[in-house]
Amino acid sequence: MPYRRLRVLPLLAAALTLILGPTPGARAINRLSAPVSAVARPAPVAEVDPGAIPYPPGAVTPPTSAPTAGTSVAGGTGAARPSGSPSPSGSRGGQPPDRSVGPGGSAKRTGSAAVALTFDDGPDPVQTPALLDLLRRHGVKATFCLVGFRARDNPDLVRRIAAEGHALCNHSWQHLVDLAQRPVDEIRHDLEATNDAIRAAMPGAKIRYFRAPGGHFTPDLVAIARGYGMASIYWQVDPRDWDHRGTASDQEHIARVIEAVRHEVRPGAIVLSHDNRQPTTIEAYRTLLPWLKARFTLRALPT
Ligand SMILES: [Zn+2]
Repeated sequence: MPYRRLRVLPLLAAALTLILGPTPGARAINRLSAPVSAVARPAPVAEVDPGAIPYPPGAVTPPTSAPTAGTSVAGGTGAARPSGSPSPSGSRGGQPPDRSVGPGGSAKRTGSAAVALTFDDGPDPVQTPALLDLLRRHGVKATFCLVGFRARDNPDLVRRIAAEGHALCNHSWQHLVDLAQRPVDEIRHDLEATNDAIRAAMPGAKIRYFRAPGGHFTPDLVAIARGYGMASIYWQVDPRDWDHRGTASDQEHIARVIEAVRHEVRPGAIVLSHDNRQPTTIEAYRTLLPWLKARFTLRALPT
């Protein structure tokens, strides 16, 4: 992908902003009810090389919180509520931030005692099949947050994920960590292109969830996703499985990931992990799955 094409995007976005004018959040949300075809579609979303997804993937470190009830995805119909909730990153009127809710009002918990394992950034032609084999062996259903262009490139894996009973989650077309700052039309096009790629592989697929790259949700981004019937999911447990520290051996890294999940997981937690280019994550789950199954109900997020 020529660098030049990527550089054109901000210019295109700026041009659209000039043409359309500033787009206040409320107006943007109202426009969600308009038919998709009625909205001007920007140029096709650029791709990045699969290796170009930045690691660390822009992760927002969630505040440590007790396992209290918070925004959840119970019932799977709706969406993360309430959109006006304070984000952990800020508070108003002197109120302390609500640590049970993810950024932008996204969900950190499942809404039941069940624990939801979520795997981001795939499908990966090598790691995702290995993970699917492992999950099948243990009879565990999970949730896969798919990157659009990888879904397009690996349609057989999209079909396998869905056919084996896992839930599907839109993780944006190419993992732009500043997606929430992009013009609304670009965000919409990004989410639509990703859902289109998933449904091209699996017609009629239910895509009930959205996870912003790096967890960088805003209330507007959560509202846009909701307009497509997708609840925004953050996480309560993040073992930072992508974070291969300095001199740590693979075995040390795997042990750290296992220990992090064991230490942090509680009933109702959404657990974040990655299957793209993370063979050590799958190794960690060979140990974690029996441990988790003995203590928790593991379920795909409801569809
Ligand atoms: Zn990601």
